[in-house]
Amino acid sequence: MSIKEYFVSLFKGMYSLIKGMEVTGKELVTPKVTEQYPENRATLQIPDRFRATLQFIYDENGNHKCIGCRSCERACPNGTIHIDTRMVDLPNGKKKMKLDKYIYDLGSCTFCSLCVQSCPTSAIEFSNDFEQAVFRRESLVKQLNYLPEKDEPAPAVAQPNEAKSEAAPKTADAATVEGNSPETVKNDNQENQ
Ligand code: SF4
Ligand code: SF4
Repeated sequence: MSIKEYFVSLFKGMYSLIKGMEVTGKELVTPKVTEQYPENRATLQIPDRFRATLQFIYDENGNHKCIGCRSCERACPNGTIHIDTRMVDLPNGKKKMKLDKYIYDLGSCTFCSLCVQSCPTSAIEFSNDFEQAVFRRESLVKQLNYLPEKDEPAPAVAQPNEAKSEAAPKTADAATVEGNSPETVKNDNQENQ
């Protein structure tokens, strides 16, 4: 390499370095245009149908609708769901299967939603809570029925005679609540005709 070629190569290298630093410097002071997570966590809009993790649907009284039928467990292609059930004695002498533990391994879930679609009671759904990162894989295994199970209510056996005697006063009560006795209602109807 001649001295001239050496200096040409040197200046080309320096020009290339300065050009690269110029681009880097510009990006350093330019506002971010990509998603600004986690700074925008409070205003972040995650679509309702985004599947982040499986969860039980609890009503306002803390009841869920899972009957422990294992349909979701059988539908899952990955063995992600494991269900433990137990038999309980009902006050009327019959037996009933109840859910004991509903174990869901988020780490092996492919979010195919076959479990949700196969559930006959619509007891499970996908939450869009996307912040599911953990430090240990074991932490991704969750028990979905986290609220304590409630006892079976004793069946109310209605006596036929009681049912009839309760029905009659209810009609009278309804008229009284409106502020009209049954007789008043009849007279009003006649006047309107
Ligand atoms: S979404 Fe699919 S992979 Fe995940 S638990 Fe349900 S059936 Fe299994
Ligand atoms: S979640 Fe639905 S399909 Fe799964 S065990 Fe409960 S009732 Fe059956």
